[in-house]
Amino acid sequence: MKHEFDVIVIGGGHAGTEAAHAAYRKGASVLLVTHKFERLGEMSCNPAIGGLGKGHLVREIDALDGLMGWAADQAGIQFRLLNRRKGPAVQGPRTQADRMLYRQAMQSVFQGLEGLSVLEGEVVDLSLKGQKVTGVVLSDGVTVHARTVVLTAGTFLRGVIHIGDHRREGGRWGDAAASPLAQKLDALNLPLGRLKTGTPPRLDCRTIAFDGLAQQAADDEPTLFSFLSERAVAPQIACGITYTTERTHDIIRANLAKSAMYGGHIDGVGPRYCPSIEDKVTRFAEKNAHQVFLEPESLSDNVIYPNGISTSLPIEVQEAYVKSIPGLEKVDILQPGYAIEYDYVDPRSLSRTLELHALGGLYLAGQINGTTGYEEAAAQGLVAGLNAASQALGHEPFILDRSEGYIGVLIDDLVSKGVSEPYRMFTSRAEYRLSLRADNADQRLTPVGIEHGCVSDHRKKAFESKSDALASAVAKLNEIAVTPNQARKIGINVNLDGKKRSALQLLSFKDVEFEDLSKNWPDLRDISADIQQQVSYDARYASYIDRQNRDIAALKKEEALVLPTDMDYSNIAGLSNEIVEKLERVRPETLAQAGRIDGVTPAALTILLAAIRQGALRKSA
Ligand code: FAD
Repeated sequence: MKHEFDVIVIGGGHAGTEAAHAAYRKGASVLLVTHKFERLGEMSCNPAIGGLGKGHLVREIDALDGLMGWAADQAGIQFRLLNRRKGPAVQGPRTQADRMLYRQAMQSVFQGLEGLSVLEGEVVDLSLKGQKVTGVVLSDGVTVHARTVVLTAGTFLRGVIHIGDHRREGGRWGDAAASPLAQKLDALNLPLGRLKTGTPPRLDCRTIAFDGLAQQAADDEPTLFSFLSERAVAPQIACGITYTTERTHDIIRANLAKSAMYGGHIDGVGPRYCPSIEDKVTRFAEKNAHQVFLEPESLSDNVIYPNGISTSLPIEVQEAYVKSIPGLEKVDILQPGYAIEYDYVDPRSLSRTLELHALGGLYLAGQINGTTGYEEAAAQGLVAGLNAASQALGHEPFILDRSEGYIGVLIDDLVSKGVSEPYRMFTSRAEYRLSLRADNADQRLTPVGIEHGCVSDHRKKAFESKSDALASAVAKLNEIAVTPNQARKIGINVNLDGKKRSALQLLSFKDVEFEDLSKNWPDLRDISADIQQQVSYDARYASYIDRQNRDIAALKKEEALVLPTDMDYSNIAGLSNEIVEKLERVRPETLAQAGRIDGVTPAALTILLAAIRQGALRKSA
């Protein structure tokens, strides 16, 4: 093996695979070092990709020619569009994914590539020259040199697995922790902290009584992730739905002191948005049942992932509470639930390229930066990989603004606000969410990717031909002009203001569907279904986007607004408990300061501003 590369990526998880492949697409020579090739692309926890906010990230990764969307399309066994009844801006493509098919898809990409080598091994140290990283040291003492290094160690840095009061070192189930490297990072005085997360027990599907349980089916028409995919590859399946019972909650409450998360055995902060069942039973004490999705992990094994009951209770308590759930009375647990605690690096020590301020040439991406979730990790991996390659090759850095994509929002939030708990993406974090839709991610970002040289010719051609089709559809719609009376005659209710409107303008009306137009102008039927949908969404959102931009400008203008110190945040409708809690704790003095608190979203600031304008809401009032 050669000992000199442009870029070395440490870790073959979701961040590492995207980082390595992005750097390779830019034309850098890349080495990916990871513990085991067979776990490349492993989904450590839930067998699913996408969801609210997360689906947007996957689409954006795909628009930049990344891997996750394509791999999810290869492995998807239950595609569902979440929030289908709401507007496209907040819809979330999601699929349950066959864990094996996903790994296979990911691993197939990394075989036989000239310019991208994979090495099974452990990095135990970084080689440095002054304040610059120059390569990595492997566990056999060999040093491999590189111009830049991307570190994506996930939950492996000083990882400790907890089940009840049992604890042992581990990076995740079945894998050792990466402690030597963690000690070296500590010695470099990086700002490290501890976070934790948990996973449910895995169940044997042959011992579950599915009869009598509700089922959730896949969508009839799958919404795929990749702009290049045409159809789902794997068969689509249903999953079972059951609920915890009062008895489940009694068992959990009686044993809370034995839970690693609750019994005081773990110092790290846990994910608010993937609460353990211990957490749910305590925080939502008024609820007497919690939903549990019984999701198959693969078409080719018998493992069920019970989504909704992650835990760190002792094994015998897990046995008891799981069996108190309808359908699971006789279930066999194949692998216990557990919690994991690990080191992360305060992301405020990074620039927007994800390079460490203090150590040139070292980029960090994924769970190591305090995020949770495959999609968040992959998005950062892509950015870090592109920038590591750019620095190595002397190209311009790759930085996305908040107005350009959820990826920009993610990175800006991380590097400017830091994290006090594992960060996950939501649509409410994006102030530009009406323009940053999952459906238009290619229109927004593929040109950026082309400019940065990370998009293949194949995608470029497909993108150009779609853009041509969109432009020609818009031209056709603009050629048609109708008076208000003509519009009313075909059932479209517009103001009788004497103004002629184009068919494109008519499409922006809430109740007008493309079909309403093509019924009357048969030429429009030549436009393909996907282009019809895209121009309809674009037209519908055009007027809202003006309003969105005005709201953002208003927020910027009011940044210096002083917040009353006795403001009663709990009385402001629309603020989540999380945000109320954080505002009550910090009691920011200005709107700008409120916006810098991690977790306080632009949407919350708009609500706050409106409340203050209405003369709200002092405790003393
Ligand atoms: P990982 O996927 O962890 O990949 C890290 C990779 O780095 C691994 O391949 C590892 O072998 C390699 N590596 C590490 N150190 C070295 C080294 N020194 N040398 C060589 N290779 C190295 N996410 C959620 O969204 N919701 C949840 O509820 C949730 N629960 C979780 C529960 C558990 C128990 C675990 C383990 C994870 C959970 N996750 C959850 C997190 C999810 O798995 C991660 O967000 C995601 O996998 C992060 O991707 P990553 O690429 O940063 O790291």
